[in-house]
Amino acid sequence: MLDHKKRILILAPHADDGEFGAGGSIARFVEEKKEINYIAFSGAEKSTPKGMSKDARRKETMKATAILGIKRDNVEVLKYPVREFPHYRQDILEDMIRIENDIKPDLVLLPAISDTHQDHQVIAAEGFRAFKKTTMLGYEVPWNNLNFTTSAFIHIEERHLETKINAVKCFITQLGRIYVTEDFIRSLALTRGVQIGTKYAETFEVIRWVVK
Ligand SMILES: [Zn+2]
Repeated sequence: MLDHKKRILILAPHADDGEFGAGGSIARFVEEKKEINYIAFSGAEKSTPKGMSKDARRKETMKATAILGIKRDNVEVLKYPVREFPHYRQDILEDMIRIENDIKPDLVLLPAISDTHQDHQVIAAEGFRAFKKTTMLGYEVPWNNLNFTTSAFIHIEERHLETKINAVKCFITQLGRIYVTEDFIRSLALTRGVQIGTKYAETFEVIRWVVK
């Protein structure tokens, strides 16, 4: 069913959400020669650990998306302040409408509607408004999701999982958080694989499915 989806857009509230939520699927899509665009809405400058340069997470994003195989020109990191997205809803919506006009994606991956982080909520809600004519899948961020429905799965192979792990490991600013560990990423992929009888998978919540 994804064969017809050629232009895929990843919306990440913060640099690293796309890698964690969908890195294995992105690696697979790149292999399948799909055109991938990645937009992060914040380089999370304010939450950069002390002693690191403010643009550290931005640089990590460029490295991580390159590992996933996304073209540099297709990666954009916007400058919304972390944890303050609710104050910028209209600006964020307008950015999304610009992105929709530029890219005309036929699949959008974004946080799930049930994500409880305030910045993720804004990207999910405004993303729904901006891309309502497009198929949308919400990715899994287990520590933020209250009622995540595992309604879609994408098979991934060991090589895709390894690429995801290497991409997530680029986020040195996030080291110390459990989700950047190989154990966690691997066990989640195994869990999702068990649900559908394959070794590894990533799961998504179907927000909208459009068949043309
Ligand atoms: Zn985030």
